[in-house]
Amino acid sequence: MAKKFQLVDTFEQRTPTTPPETNWKLCLVCQEETTESLVCPVLSKRRDPGSGYTTMAANLVKFDELGKLPRTVQLQRLDEGQGVEATMVAHQAKWHKTCMLQYNNTMLRRAEKRLIASSSAFGSTDNVPGKRARTHSSEATTSGTSCFFCGKSGTETLHEVATFQVDTRVRKCAAQVGDNELMARLSMGDMVALEAKYHSKCLLALYYRAKTTVEAEQKTDHEGVMSRIVLAELVLYIEETHLEEGTAPVFRLADLAKLYTTRMEQLGVALCKKVNSTRLTERLLAQLPGLRSQSKGRDVLLAFDEDIGEALGKACEQDCDTEADL
Ligand SMILES: [Zn+2]
Ligand SMILES: [Zn+2]
Repeated sequence: MAKKFQLVDTFEQRTPTTPPETNWKLCLVCQEETTESLVCPVLSKRRDPGSGYTTMAANLVKFDELGKLPRTVQLQRLDEGQGVEATMVAHQAKWHKTCMLQYNNTMLRRAEKRLIASSSAFGSTDNVPGKRARTHSSEATTSGTSCFFCGKSGTETLHEVATFQVDTRVRKCAAQVGDNELMARLSMGDMVALEAKYHSKCLLALYYRAKTTVEAEQKTDHEGVMSRIVLAELVLYIEETHLEEGTAPVFRLADLAKLYTTRMEQLGVALCKKVNSTRLTERLLAQLPGLRSQSKGRDVLLAFDEDIGEALGKACEQDCDTEADL
């Protein structure tokens, strides 16, 4: 691996020690007595005092996942089993405002960005599913000296999974991206019990893969839903025109396709390719049993069986005149 420049982060200088007990009378973060006054969310005048704990707990867990918690803030001492937030609430945790600010959303995003920047410098080949298999063995996952995800130890710091939140999220992500190999490893037990270690960049890579997968699925899903709505509108439009007294409507497929595209765009779905006319015809014919399609020159015309003999013939002769009715 090529050497790369990296900002020295004082947070990195972590040595494994058994965490001391938390003194809940002191600042949760620094555990030091200073002149700065302590803030306690329970005593705050905000309408929802608990939300202070929710954010702080969630952010500390995320910082821990990124391996960016300093030695003084070990989650083990902040989680008595029911999760960090519940433990904080139970002890009415307090903190210095300056200490809290180090773990707010802005700092979290900054830490994430820095990690992504450094992980993209390593290249993405690590995350190609097929390529990972070569270094993996079931022994590697339990030996605790290699990364749970990439199977390598590498030169980067390996972090230990300290909370069940990480395990839960990894499981969810593995399912979302459909990583069977990872799910098989997770079936051996929870990551905390397995004493699983990980590179921050590998964990983040999984999170990002899951995020993009879900987003892509939602997009496809959204397009499908909109498409069904627009098709239903098109069917209704055809039916209504057909029911109008004294008309025997003939529809040009090209016009219907244009209508479909316009309506989809109005609903915020920009179609990246031209509407598949054959597929559109199939869908329309499936929903309108009386409708028949017939090619006429370059056009495909759609009309109802009962009108077909008369109207289709006329439409072809008069060409433009009948289109005014549509
Ligand atoms: Zn403090
Ligand atoms: Zn790794």
